[in-house]
Amino acid sequence: MSTKIENIRNIGIIAHIDAGKTTVTERMLFCCGSTHRVGEVDKGTTETDFDEEEQERGITIYSACVTFKWAGKTVNLLDTPGHVDFTAEVERCLRVLDGGVVVFSAREGVEAQSETVWRQANKYKVPRICFINKLDREGASFSSVVSEIRNRLEGNPIPIQMPVGEGPAHVADPFRGLIDLIRMKYVEFTDDGSKAVYLDIPSELMDDAELARQEMLEELCNFDNELMECLLQEESPADDLIHRVLREATLAQQIQPLVCGSALHGIGVPLVLDAVARYLPSPLDMPPVTGLAVKKRKEEHESRKPDASEPFCGLVFKVLPAKTGDLSWVRVYSGELKSNSRVLNPGKDKKENVAQLWKVHGSKREQIQLGPTGDIIAVIGLRSSVTGDTLCDPQHPILLETIEFPETVISMAIEPETTGDRKKLGEVLEMMKRQDPTFRATENEDTGQTLISGMGELHLEVIKNRLLRDFNLNVKVHKPRVNYRESVKEPATAKGECHRQIAGQSHFAEVQLQIEPTESAQGLSVTSRASLEDVPAEFLSVVLDELRNRSEGGGVIGGFPLSKLKVTVLALRSDETSNEIAFRIAAGMAFESALQKAGPIILEPVMRLKITTPEEHMGDFVGDLQQRRALIAGTENRGKFTEIEAHAPLAELFGYSSAMRSLSQGRAGVSMEPFAYWPAPDSVAASYQM
Ligand code: GDP
Repeated sequence: MSTKIENIRNIGIIAHIDAGKTTVTERMLFCCGSTHRVGEVDKGTTETDFDEEEQERGITIYSACVTFKWAGKTVNLLDTPGHVDFTAEVERCLRVLDGGVVVFSAREGVEAQSETVWRQANKYKVPRICFINKLDREGASFSSVVSEIRNRLEGNPIPIQMPVGEGPAHVADPFRGLIDLIRMKYVEFTDDGSKAVYLDIPSELMDDAELARQEMLEELCNFDNELMECLLQEESPADDLIHRVLREATLAQQIQPLVCGSALHGIGVPLVLDAVARYLPSPLDMPPVTGLAVKKRKEEHESRKPDASEPFCGLVFKVLPAKTGDLSWVRVYSGELKSNSRVLNPGKDKKENVAQLWKVHGSKREQIQLGPTGDIIAVIGLRSSVTGDTLCDPQHPILLETIEFPETVISMAIEPETTGDRKKLGEVLEMMKRQDPTFRATENEDTGQTLISGMGELHLEVIKNRLLRDFNLNVKVHKPRVNYRESVKEPATAKGECHRQIAGQSHFAEVQLQIEPTESAQGLSVTSRASLEDVPAEFLSVVLDELRNRSEGGGVIGGFPLSKLKVTVLALRSDETSNEIAFRIAAGMAFESALQKAGPIILEPVMRLKITTPEEHMGDFVGDLQQRRALIAGTENRGKFTEIEAHAPLAELFGYSSAMRSLSQGRAGVSMEPFAYWPAPDSVAASYQM
């Protein structure tokens, strides 16, 4: 049962943690008949949060893709995590989806994390609709959230509904339904929340509804002449015209249609789905993907249209373990993916077996034979491919842009207790690395320890718990510590000369290079300005390769990876005795000597903190942050709460979540994400030079 490409919607729910993403997802599945009961997050029985870790913490960490039908459309819903320790997960999902539903809580409104995800969605140019949830909560305010989206997120939300009432049942005018400003009907929902019931607008609400409709139309006519004409003639535009303008302006990312409700109480979700079907893009609305055409001896860019007749290409964006082998989630960008076929992973130059194709509908899985263009499917059979890898037709290789992942900022040593555990640990870590590319694991043969690294304390804790609980491993876990890097203070040049006797013969090579600190590179960027007039080109490639290899563990203070460093090869000299080994040696010597001259320094990871605290604790937080060497980047008053943005070294933030809970009696919240690498205090370098 294949779907026409224009009827596919690849969407994600993007939200601040606790805004109600899981509850909304559950409701959607229920409305579409994919599940027979509404899971309740609070009871840990939901369909998409299937990882035990998530259920325990109540956060969605490992996003899964669920497929369902609505209004003739096939919706592939990617469940993106909201916790900023998992930003990479969110970015990875944004890369493969075509549209988003941004969920806000009507009570909390736009929070620090909403800003992060909104910015990410801008970066990936994701058209979106907004859903204001939790209108039944005490203190809910539709209009404040709309203006916060405008002012804080610089969005352009267009309410296409008006809530009727606000707040819980015991208030005078509780939230009970909404007015559809296009059909001009009052909408209530069946008891199970799965269907909308359209009624006439009660007369006492008519004036407000007409005013709200007028505002909507006046905003929209800025984007369409026909609608403008209609309004100038004082005619009432047809519903279809309004839908068309909403869709076009959404796709052009000029507006975000805004709907509202209460997912928990079954109000509004069917209309969220209508908006998804109507206004969010199909894969056909997206520009063709581009990538490197990987052909022998020739590298050029090519693009692939979302068309079944194009050669197949797709991107692996998620790998999940399953009893039958890894389940690799693939977005098909062009052509079709067939089961029992062979594809190429051009990045690794490996052929892969596509044994089976699957779709997941809630808790049920369906095996399919063909993954059509534009669709998202799960593949069983891949062995070498990891998150971020391209798959393509072996006859028409193309390498899509890989997904960028930030550097890890924190590490923890773990030691298996027995030989059996050691073997199993190795396998489990390999699998976890395939699933989560922001996680690293390296084994130190000398100490028998394995170092695992990630994006923050919570990230490592989640991994630790999986090892201990899900895989029942006996491992000793050491305290986490920060990942330092090394760089230099100032530019320096140096020369390395090799006159080596190798196997009785003298070999000559000379390399001159410059090292300088740079803000733009994460690791070590290596380029050349050397003239190749008198030197064979292969010697230059050897030199560049040797220098790139210096990145990991190349620092001269503590052997930390080098970062924010630019190396430029200035000149090479060779004679008839020169060979590759001599050039490697000369390059290494020039590099070491330039590093020493340029003043090596240690860099430490700095996190961006967004703290939301009741105003009365603000002073305590600022004082505490200053003790932690933090820079306060700004504070903002948000009703009874104050939001503090600070940049603080990770080294000072261990256990910060619990420290802040005691500072505020549990009333403050914090989000943290890697922000930058800054020079560490001299004491850090001194401790390695003793
Ligand atoms: P997520 O972290 O964004 O996935 O949010 P959840 O779906 O887990 O919801 C967080 C909490 O808010 C849970 O306790 C839900 O029961 C509750 N919740 C979700 N939607 C609503 C709503 O519309 N009204 C109310 N009152 N509570 C809600």
